[in-house]
Amino acid sequence: MSLGILYRNITVNNLIYQLRFASCWSCNKDNKKLVNNLFCSHCNVLQMPDEKENYFKILGVDENYDIEEVTLAKQFKTLQMNLHPDKFANKKKEEQEISAQYSSLVNEAYKTLLEPLARGIYMLKLRGREIPEKTEIDKEFLMKIMEKNEEVENADTEKQIMHLRKENRKVIEDLQKQVSAAFFAGDLNRAERVLSIMKYYTSIDSQIEAVIREKGIIR
Ligand SMILES: [Zn+2]
Repeated sequence: MSLGILYRNITVNNLIYQLRFASCWSCNKDNKKLVNNLFCSHCNVLQMPDEKENYFKILGVDENYDIEEVTLAKQFKTLQMNLHPDKFANKKKEEQEISAQYSSLVNEAYKTLLEPLARGIYMLKLRGREIPEKTEIDKEFLMKIMEKNEEVENADTEKQIMHLRKENRKVIEDLQKQVSAAFFAGDLNRAERVLSIMKYYTSIDSQIEAVIREKGIIR
């Protein structure tokens, strides 16, 4: 096959792909602009989520490690309001199915982007990287983590546990700043390294939260 034919084929395939995505699955009309980013502007039927879109795009926020929780929550609430099952109760079965699928995708996207560790891991994944299961961690660091674990286990009073929580969150916050700087500089090795450290502190945080629930501490 000559290069010319190959090139033409690719162009034709791309065109078909774009056309399929640009037209509404229900009324077949051209659908480049969606209402609220979700609905066909002609027949108002919910469109399918674009599989190529990442979680940031799905939630309509900038693709950045530094994310404003308030903005993220606002976007999430608006989407879920528009995707609420009640709104589709009298609609076609296909549309009901799309709404359920879309809604769970939005949930997953929100959960992932909200959590600093999950967000970092997701951003690495978008760049074709992942944290290896077994990272080489030096002994000194491991000892420090083990000590923290013990401290949490031995915390008896509300004051003690809340102090540990505050201390640990501060560490996570500092790590977040480092991850952000690493992504900003395009230093993926560094982002990977800091995130694998963050993993340990995030697990301490979950442990602290479990203790708080067990003791019935109201915050
Ligand atoms: Zn339509």
